[in-house]
Amino acid sequence: MSRKPIIAGNWKMFKTVSEAQSFFSEVKGKAEVEGVESVICAPFTALPALVEAAKGTNIAIGAQNLHFEDNGAFTGEISGVMLADLGVKYVIIGHSERRAYFAESDEIVNKKTHAAFKHGLTPIVCVGEKLEEREADQTKEVCKVQTEAAFQGLSAEQAAQVVIAYEPIWAIGTGKSSTAADAEDVIAYIRGIVAGLYGEATANAVRIQYGGSVKPNNVTEYLGQANIDGALVGGASLEPASYIALVEGA
Ligand code: PEP
Repeated sequence: MSRKPIIAGNWKMFKTVSEAQSFFSEVKGKAEVEGVESVICAPFTALPALVEAAKGTNIAIGAQNLHFEDNGAFTGEISGVMLADLGVKYVIIGHSERRAYFAESDEIVNKKTHAAFKHGLTPIVCVGEKLEEREADQTKEVCKVQTEAAFQGLSAEQAAQVVIAYEPIWAIGTGKSSTAADAEDVIAYIRGIVAGLYGEATANAVRIQYGGSVKPNNVTEYLGQANIDGALVGGASLEPASYIALVEGA
């Protein structure tokens, strides 16, 4: 089965509204390559302007988080209802920075994944091991636990639409990246986990990205692996030329 490659930029807490607009005007028409899905996951404040700018283009806009409730007394939070209302298409869930700094547990990641589907958003669910877990040879076990927890209660139809981002935490923003062969090994294993839960057809439909210091000069090697369907990219997605090169390299 052929899966459409997906490059998603994760801007983290960077860019004002005007910076986001200026970025978008530079990538428009360029970070749009036939057969590749291009997604920009921006801070909440830039989402309305980006959704507007992206109309009529092949670039989708995503958020970096959502709350699992639709509304309520959750000061400072943003819900799936609100993101869908803006016209946002994707949402990153369970990024390691959220797991580490905002105490996001596997259970919360699962609730957020359900909330995304409830509102027609496509979740990009992040899984990945810490350095000490890798050194203790626990990479696959960690990915198994996180993947199974995130998918709990999803239908096969929903599961097939999840984008999983395998991001070894020690490789995020560090300049150290997993070798393409190592990333492929873990990603093939994660696909096997999905097959165990839902069967081969669903596992073959799920797109799994690699993330962790992906750059224009290594993106093609990752995407050349049989099971790697894209990349979730932080630092290298912030400059227009670099983002365009990532999409072109996919
Ligand atoms: C990320 O933010 O998900 C990420 C992978 O960052 P970087 O590409 O900078 O390592």
